Amino acid sequence: MIIVMKHQATPEEIQNVVSQVEARGYRAHLSHGTERTIVGVIGDDRPLEDHLFELLPGVEKVVRILQPFKLASRDFHPENTVVRVRGVNIGDQGIVVIAGPCAVESRSQILETAFAVKEAGAHILRGGAYKPRTSPYAFQGLGEQGLEMLAEAREATGLPIITEVMSPEDVPTISKYADILQIGTRNMQNFALLQAVGRTRIPVFLKRGMMSTVQEWLMSAEYVLISGNEQVILCERGIRTFETATRNILDINAIPLLKQWTHLPVFADPSHGTGKWDLVAPVARACLAAGADGLIIEVHPCPERALSDGSQSLKPERFRELMESLRQLVPALGRAL
Ligand code: PEP
Ligand code: MN
Repeated sequence: MIIVMKHQATPEEIQNVVSQVEARGYRAHLSHGTERTIVGVIGDDRPLEDHLFELLPGVEKVVRILQPFKLASRDFHPENTVVRVRGVNIGDQGIVVIAGPCAVESRSQILETAFAVKEAGAHILRGGAYKPRTSPYAFQGLGEQGLEMLAEAREATGLPIITEVMSPEDVPTISKYADILQIGTRNMQNFALLQAVGRTRIPVFLKRGMMSTVQEWLMSAEYVLISGNEQVILCERGIRTFETATRNILDINAIPLLKQWTHLPVFADPSHGTGKWDLVAPVARACLAAGADGLIIEVHPCPERALSDGSQSLKPERFRELMESLRQLVPALGRAL
């Protein structure tokens, strides 16, 4: 960080700032300009709070130079992280497609969907067994029974499975079944949950908080990484804005921005990002064009009877068409599918 002194700062005030910097174990570098003096703090200053210096007499402002996320940043880890799940490489040259219903509703529903998405070319099966519903009266998911059905679908199709975990207490149970643990938008800043999944060695699919900045999102990834789990996948799923015509606004900008800032794989969720099934395919293609490493898509054999998110779910034949269009697009992006 650099500490910018006020124009009128006295030599004593400047010396006091230097002493405070040094007292915390950092070196101070002074630069005397014609208008004002700047104190550079040398060393990894991420643990330092801005107010330590901002409140000292004669200080105008504190400017941060380093990104506050360290383990997620490309600074010390320039090459892409590749997460490997049962033979599927995530974050490599190949595009990875995750598909399946919002929620596991029954054995036949998840098996039928699993076979359909596998045949269409999906790599991983999704399905929620513990659902974060806005209303406590809405379908809450089948719990461990749902996990058993997902595991059966994995057995039958060979597709790895991803499912959401909502609370630290559920991590041990869900870890017995899941190949990837999903953290939903509503829990992106549930720090106890991030630490709990960070203590496992199961890849974590971290969705963006619907009201979180990219920096806050990366700080959440940092919680998982610093707990010892290096396998984190980020997923842009849309944010809230003034617009009400679609369920969320999928922040396309975040995709290439994240590819610059972090080595972690970046996914996009055009199902929750739009909330409308007929917008899913075009937005999915836009996300890949922007540099996403993969997609997560909701597919239901009968969306009109779905217990959650039917309006944004693709029927299996629509998903097959989407996959066909991606097979045309992906080579033009220099990637494989
Ligand atoms: C989901 O994937 O079904 C889900 C609840 O997603 P989000 O947390 O992004 O709303
Ligand atoms: Mn959903």
